[in-house]
Amino acid sequence: MISNFPVDKYQRPIKDLRISVTDRCNFRCNYCMPAEIFGESYKFLPKPELLSFEEIERLAKIFAQLGVNKIRITGGEPLVRKNIESLVKALSKIDGIADLTMTTNGFLLSKYAKSLRDSGLNRLTVSLDSLDEKVFNEMSGVKHGPQKTLDGINSAIEEGFENIKVNVVVRKGVNDHTLLDTLDYFIKKNIIVRFIEFMDVGTKNKWQMKEVVTSQEILDIVRSKYDAKPINPNYKGEVASRYKIDDYDNEIGIISSVTNPFCGACTRARLSTDGKLVTCLFASGGKDIRTFLRSGASDSEISDEIAKVWSQRDDRYSELRSKGISQKEKVEMYYIGG
Ligand code: SAM
Ligand code: SF4
Ligand code: SF4
Repeated sequence: MISNFPVDKYQRPIKDLRISVTDRCNFRCNYCMPAEIFGESYKFLPKPELLSFEEIERLAKIFAQLGVNKIRITGGEPLVRKNIESLVKALSKIDGIADLTMTTNGFLLSKYAKSLRDSGLNRLTVSLDSLDEKVFNEMSGVKHGPQKTLDGINSAIEEGFENIKVNVVVRKGVNDHTLLDTLDYFIKKNIIVRFIEFMDVGTKNKWQMKEVVTSQEILDIVRSKYDAKPINPNYKGEVASRYKIDDYDNEIGIISSVTNPFCGACTRARLSTDGKLVTCLFASGGKDIRTFLRSGASDSEISDEIAKVWSQRDDRYSELRSKGISQKEKVEMYYIGG
C-alpha cells in the first residue's frame, strides 16, 4: 500500500466521494440531460455494467480507509434505482463516514423519505430551479410542475431531516426573475437555498458564458430584498459561499464554480455508474476500477490503485477555464454524479 491517506499533486487529500448510482433520470433538465438528446432511443447503460450495491459498498469502505469521510449518493436520479434504501443502509454503517447525503430532484421523495431516514441517510439536497410552473417545466423538461418536489421536501421535513438544502441552477433570462420567490418560500421553512452558476459540465448543454448569471449578480438580486451578510465556511473546501439572511435564523449559499473557482481546496472524487474513478467534474474520462474489481483484485490492491490515481491528480479545470483554457472532451454529469 502506498499510503493510508494519499494526497494529489497539489497536496489535496481525498475527503468526499460522490457516487452516481444510475445514469437514468425521470427528468430531462435542459442543462444536464436535454430531451432532444436523451430521447426514447437513447441507450442507457445495461444493468450488468452498473456497479452492484455490494460492489459500491466494498469500494466505499476502501475509500473510507483512504480518508473519505463524506459520501453523496447522486446520479442521474438516485431514487429511480431500485432498493436504493438498502445501499443507504449499508453505506451508513461504514466506519469513518460521518456524513451520508443524497442529491435528488425530489419527484419520488414523498414515497422514500421515511425509508431513507430509517436507513440512516443524514442529509438531503433537493434540486428545484423555480416555483413557477412554466419555468420549472422548461428547465426540468417535464410537464407536471414543481408540486411533487415540494411535497417531497415536506415529507422529508416531517420525517425529521434537518439542514435540507435546495439547489437552484441559475440561467440568465430563464429563471433569474424567479430567484426571490424561491428564496421567500424556502427561507420561512428554514431550508438553505443554494444558487448555482450554470456550468459547462459535459458536452451536451450548449453552455455559453453569456447565459451565466454570476455569483455577484445573484447576490445583487438577493440583496435587492434581503440583507445578506457573508459568514465563514463550515469547513475548508466548502463549495458554497455562505450568507446570513437578516431576521431569519437561516442562510443561503452561492456556488460560483465559473466566476470564482475553488479548485485549490477540491477534495472530491467521483465514482461513475459503471465504476470509473473520476477526479474532476470536468474530466475527460476516469480510471476503470470495476474491471479490476471484477477480476478478483484484493481490497489492498484496489486501495493501492485508487491511491495511485489520486496521487497523480492535477485537476483544476475551473481555474484553467477562468484563464481561457478549455477542454473539448468531458464526461457527462448524470454519469459521474453532480
Ligand atoms: N438528479 C439529481 C438532482 O437533480 O438533484 C442528482 C444529480 S444532478 C446531476 C446533481 C446536481 O447537479 C443538481 O443539483 C443539478 O441541478 C446540478 N447540475 C446539473 N447540471 C448542471 C449544470 N450544467 N450547471 C450547474 N449545475 C448543474
Ligand atoms: Fe436528472 Fe438531476 Fe440531471 Fe435534472 S439535473 S436531468 S434531475 S440528473
Ligand atoms: Fe474540483 Fe475539478 Fe471542480 Fe476544480 S473543476 S473544483 S478540481 S471538480
